[in-house]
Amino acid sequence: MAILKILKYGDEKLRLKSKEISKVSKKIKTLAHDMIDTMYANNGVGLAAPQVGENLRMFVIDVSMDDEPLNPIVFINPKIIKKSGAIKSNEGCLSFPQAYVDVRRYKNVMVKAMDINGRPFVLEAKNGELLAKAIQHEYDHLDGILFIDHSRNIFDAIEVLKQNNLPSIEQEKLIDEPELEEEILKNEKHRTRNNH
Ligand code: ZN
Repeated sequence: MAILKILKYGDEKLRLKSKEISKVSKKIKTLAHDMIDTMYANNGVGLAAPQVGENLRMFVIDVSMDDEPLNPIVFINPKIIKKSGAIKSNEGCLSFPQAYVDVRRYKNVMVKAMDINGRPFVLEAKNGELLAKAIQHEYDHLDGILFIDHSRNIFDAIEVLKQNNLPSIEQEKLIDEPELEEEILKNEKHRTRNNH
């Protein structure tokens, strides 16, 4: 059991593509437990291995609420096998202390991965629930993609990073998602009309 140091935005390791885990060894299990401890110690809902300086394809998530029992889930060599819909998500990241930005996410995802015992499992997260957003956020970390790359409003994101003394947006990393944006706007318009 150990609390690991979390790399902050600007560290180049956060931009690397992580490697598949060939065997769920004792070392990997220890890393998974340490990542869970580190996530809890920092009040996070998710943490990916590259954030603690290990460029391996593994992340941990716990979306349980205050009054619920802890429910840590370890994802090893995850693959998102289905995704659909679009939603706006206001996200933060343990590598970006205090910075929250509106990003685009899929509403529903299905992920296939191995658990801490090396057993395969499939998990579906729907309706833009926290788990669906967290899976996409953590999965991205394994490919060196950061949540700000999905920013809906670059100017807002630049401002938030500046206010929190973090390096600025890397414009060339921004992901163009016209289809997601279109669906989010459509849903927002629909909601506004319902309010009248
Ligand atoms: Zn993150």
